[in-house]
Amino acid sequence: MVLVDRFGRPVTNLRISLTNECNLNCFYCHREGQTLNFEDMKPEEIERIVRIASQLGIKKVKLTGGEPTIRKDIVEIVRRIRPYVEDLSMTTNGTTLKLLAEPLKEAGLDRVNISLDTLDREKYKAITGFDVLPQVLEGIDKAVKLFHPVKLNMVCMKGLNDEEIWDMIDYAAQKNAILQLIEIEVPKEMENSWFFKKYFYPLKPLEEKFEKIAVEIKERQMHRRKKYFIPTDYGIAEVEVVRSMHNTIFCANCTRIRLTSTGHLKTCLLRRDDLVDIITPLRSGASDEELIGIFKKAVLMREPYWR
Ligand code: SAM
Repeated sequence: MVLVDRFGRPVTNLRISLTNECNLNCFYCHREGQTLNFEDMKPEEIERIVRIASQLGIKKVKLTGGEPTIRKDIVEIVRRIRPYVEDLSMTTNGTTLKLLAEPLKEAGLDRVNISLDTLDREKYKAITGFDVLPQVLEGIDKAVKLFHPVKLNMVCMKGLNDEEIWDMIDYAAQKNAILQLIEIEVPKEMENSWFFKKYFYPLKPLEEKFEKIAVEIKERQMHRRKKYFIPTDYGIAEVEVVRSMHNTIFCANCTRIRLTSTGHLKTCLLRRDDLVDIITPLRSGASDEELIGIFKKAVLMREPYWR
């Protein structure tokens, strides 16, 4: 069984924010579209919601935040939800991976995405507010030994790190990691903000270059994102491009539903009017059938943001 929304889009992925807290403070961060910030869900509550989701055909789960690894019970959460999930991944800033990569792997995590916008220590500090680049690079070294694939998430920003993109492609090839180049994403009401105007770096021209030099191009089902295989001095780099702004194809091929750390289903990162409370009924003794009904309600609220 797979749930399908009113636009014919199957829902197969769940992106769970485990906390809205973070040990870094990236100035551009969308915090997965979460504005509420009260009590985080407990491990057993997350497990139950993931079990219900898996009965509805949602077999891919990504853990995010805030920073998911600052939760003291992160290994327990991974261990609890592992049995219900075919592909269990996490996006992390990498600051804790030197210590946590091994326990997370043992608990059943399949793969990690690590955010890395720059290889320049000063810039890293300017973007995140913390001088922890060496620690993150150590975390990446540890992760690539244990997980495959490791993806590096680079949010590309005009005048800040756009000139580093080719260095990052080399670095990813060296580490045998996949590089995800990401355009800054903001809701419609923020498109005129100084921040978006100053830093938005469109990736279309770069994609056109990639089309010419790639030895192979693939298209992922999710968002129909393109993946380019680019030759470098260190071997072939795998580079994925994530362009969501005003991208109707991206939204038409979105298979994701979200769960906030406060226990609300959320249909779209960029919407502000789309929360469906699942934690209150769960805490008040709702049956599995009632929770399934809440999932179905949320799926029916899904709408492509760009269309
Ligand atoms: N703390 C974790 C991390 O750093 O990966 C998980 C949360 S973070 C919000 C998840 C991903 O979203 C990161 O790769 C981050 O770079 C990306 N991101 C945050 N704000 C963004 C924005 N405005 N546009 C595009 N990507 C963004």
